[in-house]
Amino acid sequence: MEKDADGFYTPAPAAAAAPPTEDVTDLIKSTFEVAVTLADQQADPNSPLFSAKTFEELGLHEDLLKGIYDMGFTKPSKIQERALPLLLANPPQNMIGQSQSGTGKTAAFVLTMLSRVDFAVHKPQALCLAPSRELARQIMSVVNAMGKFTPVQTEYAIKESVPKSATNITAHVIVGTPGTMMDLLRRKVIDASGVKVFVLDEADNMLDKDGLGDQTLRVKNMLPRNPPAQIVLFSATFPDHVRTFASKFAPNANKIELQRNELSVDNIRQFYMDCRDEEHKYEVLVSLYKLLTIGQSIIFCQHRHTADRISQRMSTEGHKVASLHGAMDAGGRDAIIDGFREGKEKVLITTNVIARGIDILQVNMVVNYDLPLMNERDHHNRADSRPDIETYIHRIGRTGRFGRKGISINFVHDKATWQQMEQIESQTGKQIIRIETNDLDNMEEQMKKALK
Ligand code: ADP
Ligand code: MG
Repeated sequence: MEKDADGFYTPAPAAAAAPPTEDVTDLIKSTFEVAVTLADQQADPNSPLFSAKTFEELGLHEDLLKGIYDMGFTKPSKIQERALPLLLANPPQNMIGQSQSGTGKTAAFVLTMLSRVDFAVHKPQALCLAPSRELARQIMSVVNAMGKFTPVQTEYAIKESVPKSATNITAHVIVGTPGTMMDLLRRKVIDASGVKVFVLDEADNMLDKDGLGDQTLRVKNMLPRNPPAQIVLFSATFPDHVRTFASKFAPNANKIELQRNELSVDNIRQFYMDCRDEEHKYEVLVSLYKLLTIGQSIIFCQHRHTADRISQRMSTEGHKVASLHGAMDAGGRDAIIDGFREGKEKVLITTNVIARGIDILQVNMVVNYDLPLMNERDHHNRADSRPDIETYIHRIGRTGRFGRKGISINFVHDKATWQQMEQIESQTGKQIIRIETNDLDNMEEQMKKALK
């Protein structure tokens, strides 16, 4: 599968499973293996990838079917099969859709946007918001890939995407982050009068009052009221405190919900390593370097300065790593994530900024260098050292995409972090297995088993 104009479209699942450096036999073998396990999972009624239907049966336009097959999709996943008929029905109805990480939510809302647009009308008709520029850019690559056989025109509403002099955006589909979208609406660069669909990806995050909620609500208030835009909310998590607000935000919505014990997928094996102190965490990370670069890996830290510090230190010591966080400028962020997507860097050290939504199939390992805590997501900075279960679920969900195998490793180093990890274990209902920090052979063994 080829890249799109932006050069970062993730290729079809089977082809992408094999890193480009493998020799041909390995490549064929691993491509074949992934294709086979995918087919098995899509035939298993208990899998979130299962569907009893074909894409043809979901009522999609022929041009969109062409786009879907061109991306290498053969069968819908469970969320696609269940959500699409509801999303495409007329008159339009709102949707609150929940499904595990990596199960294909993007296609469900992108196909909805592309189905609702009248391409003959040159006005914005579908708006989509995401919590980071990296995710907005990824969603856009899916819009362009799925819409490849349609005349769709698209535009970003992310920092530095629209020149200051721009007066009128006529694109059909606009994907962006809340601050920039709001700014363009207020300055009437985006005319909202023709908007028919409003999508929030990572909706619980977008609606959280302690986060992006205010800005998202402001965007919604600029949309037409009569008829109102169809509101579509998707996420892998909808914690109780956002659920009520979500139901008000998307009134009378069709709901597809997960049980608490279904929140994360089983194909991600979770481990922990018991480190002595902060310095030992660093040493353990370095000792893992060889394993981190078997595929690709993402290391999550609590603070930007930690991400900077450990990536600088590792680079100085001769290890190739990249780092990305919200204090970097737009161009720098784009270059880093694009390089990582292309596999130029194998290890990405980052913060919660890309904990959600990012889909890079080659990522088979996630390290929680610092566990995610509630006080990071609260911009009031209240002291709250409970673990942030939702962010945890999203972070580990950067691996194990669409049925692939993945590994997550949590570093704990004192009583507090130990207890936080235990809470994560009990609240997600998934076992976290101990791995000795000084037994790399065992670690490698366990990893190979988990990834098989
Ligand atoms: P989510 O948003 O639910 O976490 P994504 O929409 O990012 O998941 O999809 C995860 C991966 O699965 C992507 O690489 C996507 O291209 C792939 N995918 C989605 N739907 C299908 C499908 N029906 N068949 C094959 N691959 C799919
Ligand atoms: Mg997603």
